[in-house]
Amino acid sequence: MACEMACGYHRDDGFALLSACIVTYRTREKKDYFGVLLKREEDLLIARPEGTEIKRIGVEEETDSSQEADASAKPMLLREACDLCKDMDLGPMCVRFCPVDAITNVE
Ligand code: SF4
Repeated sequence: MACEMACGYHRDDGFALLSACIVTYRTREKKDYFGVLLKREEDLLIARPEGTEIKRIGVEEETDSSQEADASAKPMLLREACDLCKDMDLGPMCVRFCPVDAITNVE
């Protein structure tokens, strides 16, 4: 969750996880399973081990019970969109502080 901490610091000058544009993603069904959700201007980028998915904000989709973990995306809609840390000299903070290099900037 270093990405969330770093982003929260970028957004709020404090370690406020609820201010982060990026959150870690888990499911209850799979052990040691992680991904990230990234709030962007017009969509949510969902990056999981099996691949990435983009969900347009405001577009209703049919859901099934296997996508229960996606409910965690709802609070993301209220957050600010990622600005790629445009005012930070060190570049994207989430990329810089990820201890396992799980995030890359492919702008
Ligand atoms: S690039 Fe910056 S604003 Fe975007 S998710 Fe990472 S830390 Fe947050």
